[in-house]
Amino acid sequence: MAIEPRPDELLSSWLHRLAFANGVAPRSFAGVLGRGEGMWSARLDLQVPHDVTTLLKQQAAVAAEALSAMTMAGQVLTPLLLPLRENAGRNRSTWMQYCPLCFVADEAPYFRRRWRLATRISCLVHGCGLRDRCPACRSGIASFGQSELIPQHFCARCGFDLRRAAKVSVKAAARLLERCIDDICKVEMAKGSTMIGSLVSRLLRAPVVAGVGSGKTLTNLSAAARIRCFEQLAAKPYDRLVAGNDTAAAHWRHLILDAGGHDGLVARLADFMEKDRRSATPERFRLPDADLPALLEAYLRVMALRPDRVFAGERDLLPLADLEPLPLQS
Ligand SMILES: [Zn+2]
Ligand SMILES: [Zn+2]
Repeated sequence: MAIEPRPDELLSSWLHRLAFANGVAPRSFAGVLGRGEGMWSARLDLQVPHDVTTLLKQQAAVAAEALSAMTMAGQVLTPLLLPLRENAGRNRSTWMQYCPLCFVADEAPYFRRRWRLATRISCLVHGCGLRDRCPACRSGIASFGQSELIPQHFCARCGFDLRRAAKVSVKAAARLLERCIDDICKVEMAKGSTMIGSLVSRLLRAPVVAGVGSGKTLTNLSAAARIRCFEQLAAKPYDRLVAGNDTAAAHWRHLILDAGGHDGLVARLADFMEKDRRSATPERFRLPDADLPALLEAYLRVMALRPDRVFAGERDLLPLADLEPLPLQS
């Protein structure tokens, strides 16, 4: 039986659904694909061997392009992926995150590619924090090891229905920072920028800047710790994160200016600043015009200095929440 991949679905998620639809538990499906034990499907997310592609093309009626679009292979953002880790200590990262409300809305719950990134801390659709563990038994997602015929939104260790996990709240300022970082990465990738490497290493060191996680890099922190990290950062001038010196800052502004055609970034920033202007923001924080570099600079400044005042609540983010994120690959 063939299964249609869902928007932004991760290969492993699709494989688990494919197995389920064919009456095979994921753990046994590993054998069907000639894979070994452990995190077999999560490893396929990073690289699909030729024999697996051939087999799936023949047996699951899926195009090679559709398969590779589901992977996280060959991306410049690879260093930001949560590391594959079968068992994680309390404050450490697990390999996968999820939004319980997305699962509720899904006809057949599935895992999104964007949830693999350490820079993602919340759901853009539902505004809640992402989770990286089963709230009942605290273990990470382990669908690859499921030996019974149970859909992947049930914890493979204890059977808890992950759709029932309580909503995690994230401060609006932290969510906006997350979105801005996401946009920055997309712009840089679309430009094929050589700055992306330095941006990625800055992002990895974000917990140090935020004073969260005692020296661990972003990818090694649990979802809860990364949310704390982003909330701390949103309360600081985070241009330290995106520009280490004047040259980098100039280059950065140049990139944003060049990205005038990047509708998403422009629209989001403009939309945000427009709302900001209408609110009771002090005169000195208002913008003289709508030119983009000035807009972004002011956005960073306002963000750093007035997080509580500017990000008054959910209301400010609502129009943005409807935007479906772009694919990760450039
Ligand atoms: Zn969601
Ligand atoms: Zn559990």
